[in-house]
Amino acid sequence: ASVFENVAAAPADVIFALTADYQADPNTSKVNLGVGAYRTEEGKPWVLPVVHKADKILVDDEYLDHEYLPILGLKKFRDASAKLVLGADSNAIAEGRVGSAQCISGTGAVYTGAHFLSKHYPFKGAACYISKPTWANHRAIFEGVGIPVLEYPYWDPATKGLDLKGMLGAMENAPSGSIFLLHPCAHNPTGVDPTLEQWKQIADVMEAKGHFTFFDTAYQGFASGSLDKDAASIRYFVERGFEMFIAQSFSKNFGLYSERAGNLTVVARTPEIKNTIESQIAKAQRAVISNPPAYGSRVVSLVLNDEKLYGEWTENLATMANRIIAMRQALFDELKKLGTPGTWNHIVDQIGMFSFTGLTTPQVKVLKEKYHVYLTDNGRISMAGLNTKNVEYFAQAVDDVVR
Ligand code: PMP
Repeated sequence: ASVFENVAAAPADVIFALTADYQADPNTSKVNLGVGAYRTEEGKPWVLPVVHKADKILVDDEYLDHEYLPILGLKKFRDASAKLVLGADSNAIAEGRVGSAQCISGTGAVYTGAHFLSKHYPFKGAACYISKPTWANHRAIFEGVGIPVLEYPYWDPATKGLDLKGMLGAMENAPSGSIFLLHPCAHNPTGVDPTLEQWKQIADVMEAKGHFTFFDTAYQGFASGSLDKDAASIRYFVERGFEMFIAQSFSKNFGLYSERAGNLTVVARTPEIKNTIESQIAKAQRAVISNPPAYGSRVVSLVLNDEKLYGEWTENLATMANRIIAMRQALFDELKKLGTPGTWNHIVDQIGMFSFTGLTTPQVKVLKEKYHVYLTDNGRISMAGLNTKNVEYFAQAVDDVVR
């Protein structure tokens, strides 16, 4: 008999299962709109030209070794990451109260921040509020470290936009000192972001209630094409004096999905508190991963710390962002041409990698079974999966299922 006989099997991860189903489908018209990874016009993964360049520089660097990184990771990478998100002219950085830890990509950064809060957040039993809907891993990560998870309204199905009133109401009603997980740009899965004016209202309530801000930024530069614009909400909160955690991922904006390059940026009240937080994170990190992997952080660090490469990176980012924006327009135009019932403005209004189409779970099922189009049950599509060759086919399939 096995000691594990009574262990119940866990369900497969929905997104990864969807990719596996797509790959196993022999149909030649199949379309994968599931996973949030950039694809070219040919439907292929894209190694950013600037990353390819960095790869070559690294492989030829005879001084590079395979020694351990420090527990908190590559210092040049951490500093550049913080500067990227907070701005080169950030007062918080100048005041020496910004800390960081290199983590296992964005997921690891959310985990590391959540784990720290589970041990050291002073309001015992405080819940983490996540948007409804959100990236499924948010709930899994916070619950995994023992922090209760509650939801705040976000998506308004009637307007296919932001439910600001519901969001602010939930913030007002939450016990003081609750933790709020916010997407600073390119909200996953809805593609709906607050405007700067709305962020001000959000900050007002967050401040009045003494809530803790936890930003998760996985799409900086990818949403609007501008790195600064995509960080505006975060910088605004920092200017207003919030303490906060910021989980950063370089999976999407560098196309480094498998390299797991991420950072947890900590904006603390004072340099002393920053040092204390870093010391505790280092202690915890030692017991989980010991120290982070070097390669992805070397690529990112090389590009962020070199003016010329940085310039090339912003061009590569614009290429991705602009192709996605063009696909939004193409899909919208096709649906309009077909006279597809319903309003579809949200397809062009939403930003970032995803669109929350409003398609229902039964409609998604028909798309998959009849048309071999793969997307998540909540009707989210990854815009990067569309290209000029399949957008018409997809629009016709949508037209059919909504009629
Ligand atoms: N947060 C959000 C909202 C995301 O969409 C993602 C990627 N799907 C991540 C974090 C983290 O991704 P990764 O661990 O690959 O950096």
